[in-house]
Amino acid sequence: MKKRLIVIGGGPGGYTAALRAGQLGADVTLIEKGQLGGTCLNVGCIPTKSLLESSHIWAKSSQWFPENKAGEVPWPSILERKEKAVMQLRKGVEGLLRKGQIRVVKGTASLAGEKRVAVAGEEQLLLEADAIILATGSRPVVPPIEGIDLPGVVTSDELLSVAELPKRLAIIGGGVIGVEFATAFSELGVDVHVIEAAERIMPNMDPQLSRQLKELLERQGIAFCLGQKVVKIIKKETEGLELQLSEGKSVQADLVLAAVGRAAVLEPLGLDKAGIRVVNGKIKADAYQQTNQPGIYAIGDCASPIMLAHVAMAEGRVAAEHALGFPTQPVNFDLVPHCVYSHPEAAMAGLTAEEARNRGFDVQEGVFPLMASGRALVGGETDGFLKVVADRKYGRLLGIHLLAPHATEMIAEASLGLTLEATLDELVKTIHPHPTVAEGIQEAAMSIMGQAIHLS
Ligand code: FAD
Repeated sequence: MKKRLIVIGGGPGGYTAALRAGQLGADVTLIEKGQLGGTCLNVGCIPTKSLLESSHIWAKSSQWFPENKAGEVPWPSILERKEKAVMQLRKGVEGLLRKGQIRVVKGTASLAGEKRVAVAGEEQLLLEADAIILATGSRPVVPPIEGIDLPGVVTSDELLSVAELPKRLAIIGGGVIGVEFATAFSELGVDVHVIEAAERIMPNMDPQLSRQLKELLERQGIAFCLGQKVVKIIKKETEGLELQLSEGKSVQADLVLAAVGRAAVLEPLGLDKAGIRVVNGKIKADAYQQTNQPGIYAIGDCASPIMLAHVAMAEGRVAAEHALGFPTQPVNFDLVPHCVYSHPEAAMAGLTAEEARNRGFDVQEGVFPLMASGRALVGGETDGFLKVVADRKYGRLLGIHLLAPHATEMIAEASLGLTLEATLDELVKTIHPHPTVAEGIQEAAMSIMGQAIHLS
């Protein structure tokens, strides 16, 4: 008899787990209370990248062809383009699930005793399974700041669909989401201010990268208040909002985005009653994504230390394979690529030099500045660099850090190299196409070995 698997949540983690389980011959039910595709497809990865594609084209064409500049930003068309992409991809996911013979149930699921799931929706159901995968995702955190509930303070969910572009946008949080929205709205002519409590934006990335990215974004007109917190938001008598900062400064805005992080969605799963451990607000899962209750798995934002769609998908595959008794390998979080779709883009995979030193490696670094790249020059995007971090003893690749156009595409090479435990020598021997920005990765590796051709 086929094994029965229930997946709760139809985001990238959940639908990947469902489809993989279907491929392995299971009888799969996927329960989704909102839209298939979850955060990523509906209010995350896809709509933000559509917005950023539009804003970049707009900014670049205004820069290259100044006669275009006088035109008004076509905000309704930008929204429409984004919606079309989301709908098309959502239909795509629906089609994949249909073809994979996954039963999709609309409704809100909760655990209802030994391997049973209750669904509240158009109809009330009680389903039974041999294994359950929890993939309920996350929601934006609303920081405890006085005035955070004023009209005009929004989360990323709402900002993606505001009817009109604001004149002034203040963003609380200089992480990936804050930086991506800052890039898009600034490119569309909005006056953007980012307030970040840490001393630098993207604090987990290579320090040179985060410093240079901030400088480039400042040059594009984005203002940063680093090392400061928003203590209060007040409604101005005239118009707009005022954000009062910890060091006495204030920032004026028409719209405020709270982008301080995301929290796992755990309600109304009934985790307590089911005896499932929650640690620091997330479901605790082992390397195979299994919770402390055998046969119940948790993947993606509701459980993972890294809240990214590709991590959720990787964990979904592991959970499905393990739950059905197939051989599988846990996700190696050291190998996860991180991307920022700013302009220029930033991406990293593996360790920063500092992390590598802390793990005891004798580190060597090679940097290829984009000024030396012909492809970057013709694209008018010579700000940035490609950095390779390697171990001195065996030349093993430890990390790659990119601030460059197409960085989010190029980083896949780094992920493959890290997965295969590539060495500098192998990177150098790999023939890269010319003219591309990616050949700078090869040059950065060559520079460590004293073989750089295009660097003096
Ligand atoms: P989700 O995508 O959140 O899906 C969970 C689903 O479960 C939802 O559809 C929800 O309705 C459903 N659900 C919850 N509870 C129940 C219940 N009880 N019953 C039934 N259904 C339920 N990541 C990237 O990798 N790249 C990016 O470029 C990127 N950009 C982002 C931009 C923004 C603005 C945001 C907010 C996030 C972004 N992310 C990005 C993160 C990415 O969206 C998440 O990591 C990813 O969606 C997590 O997938 P998931 O399947 O765990 O959860």
